[in-house]
Amino acid sequence: MLRRTALILLGVAAAGPAFAQAYPSKPITMIVPFAAGGPTDVMARIVGERMSKELSQQIIIDNVAGAAGTIAMGKLARSTPDGYTIGIGHLGTNVVNGSIYKNLNYDLQNDLAPIARLPSNPLLVVTSNQIPAKDLKELVAYLKANADKISGGTAGMGSGSHIGVLAFFAATGTNYQLVPYRGTGPAVQDLIANQIQIMIDQSSNSLPHIRAGKLKVYAVTAKERNAAAPDVPTTAEAGFPGIEVAIWHGLWAPKGTPPEIIAKLNAAAIVALRDPEIRRKLEDLGQDIPTPEQMAPAAFTAYQKAEVAKWTPIIEKAGVKIE
Ligand code: ASP
Repeated sequence: MLRRTALILLGVAAAGPAFAQAYPSKPITMIVPFAAGGPTDVMARIVGERMSKELSQQIIIDNVAGAAGTIAMGKLARSTPDGYTIGIGHLGTNVVNGSIYKNLNYDLQNDLAPIARLPSNPLLVVTSNQIPAKDLKELVAYLKANADKISGGTAGMGSGSHIGVLAFFAATGTNYQLVPYRGTGPAVQDLIANQIQIMIDQSSNSLPHIRAGKLKVYAVTAKERNAAAPDVPTTAEAGFPGIEVAIWHGLWAPKGTPPEIIAKLNAAAIVALRDPEIRRKLEDLGQDIPTPEQMAPAAFTAYQKAEVAKWTPIIEKAGVKIE
């Protein structure tokens, strides 16, 4: 009897690595919580393409936009935990939404298993070219004088662009109407067309348009200037300290995904972010790339926990809540 149990256990132990070796044997779906063309989508495509090469399997991008990523994260949490559905998210979707949306039908901390932390980028204060302000002080005065004529774009309450707005309103005393989009990719197109006038937008989304002369930039929401936009002052240098927000990204799987599979996906993400060509692309968009140690699932879990502790009181103080 004893011998039999031992044999069975051995069989179980052997099944893990063998299964992981066979994985992935079919395409993997990566859920993206915002519209195509925006910063989360661009990150998913850049990193996903390299991971796919490493895993010798296709990674299919599934844009599940709407409600600031809550629909996507719910779908991910309810997916089969077999490694064939993973999802990309960020500070908004996987931390802040937990404080804002009171009726989520999934638990952000317990229903999703972290795979790897991904790069982080600051936000830029950007307007359409129609806004006459020459610097951030002039912009703030202009926003105050014209509050009823100004609309700003976000990817919904709790998205990165909305977190930026909350910090911007608090530090500048401004307030303007917010228009929610299915992602900041479509929002930035409306900004260029002056359908909306301002965004606090991830550098990766607006830098290409700033370089093309289609948008005006006033400041970067970081302690230090960004190497991809060295001429852009920090918000503190431009006269408004206290607006420091970086939107970090990450990969998650549904809870219950075998650890061997998480490890394989993590290793592929590390290879992707070590690739010089990928690094060049991401750094050119203002992204700060985490180290392999920071990317490890355990380190990423701890980081996410610390971010929840940091952001929960801030969001509660801002009084943003959706029942
Ligand atoms: N990440 C963006 C935001 O949170 C949305 C997007 O990726 O389109 O504002």
